[in-house]
Amino acid sequence: ALPKSPQRANPNILITGTPGTGKTTTAEMVALAAELKKITVGDLVKERKLHDGYNDDMDTYWLNEDKVVDEMEAMMADGGMCIDFHTCGFFPERWFDLVVVLRADTKKVYDRLEARGYKQNKISENVECEIMQVVLDEAHESYKPELILELQSNTVEDMEENVEKIARRVDEFRRKHAQ
Ligand code: ADP
Ligand code: MN
Repeated sequence: ALPKSPQRANPNILITGTPGTGKTTTAEMVALAAELKKITVGDLVKERKLHDGYNDDMDTYWLNEDKVVDEMEAMMADGGMCIDFHTCGFFPERWFDLVVVLRADTKKVYDRLEARGYKQNKISENVECEIMQVVLDEAHESYKPELILELQSNTVEDMEENVEKIARRVDEFRRKHAQ
């Protein structure tokens, strides 16, 4: 049988949320502050072709979830990873010690995605996703409630506070798993 809780000295953190909520920026800061290794899964998917071609309508790759999990398995084994991705339900539950769901106001998501040059249908889909809290629901379907941390990411102050909060959780984990 598999051990009940994985033994690792360093936690694996997932930072998820609707595109535009601040995952990549937050993950970079967390990785620096807490000495974790950062993986932006979207970049990994592109670089290692973990997809089934391009979806022209949505300007995005068709994710191949099995390929992503296979590719990441060895990276996650020893802990110490900070993962950033806009969906979270297909990762093995055992990988993560903390699942951060970033949230932002509709207007913030809209403006950030518009500034990124997203097509109108892609902006609308993501704004709706944030309003319907799709990623938060997905997190709750996939992970234990005590592992989930929902954080507002509207302002730079929010981001700084969020990074501190996450870094503190990393410290707590390290202290608990030190012996
Ligand atoms: P995601 O990876 O979730 O799509 P990004 O980290 O790329 O989001 O952030 C999108 C844009 O919004 C970036 O220009 C970033 O600087 C800005 N941003 C993200 N979070 C915040 C925040 N809490 N306060 C102010 N600007 C933010
Ligand atoms: Mn991103």
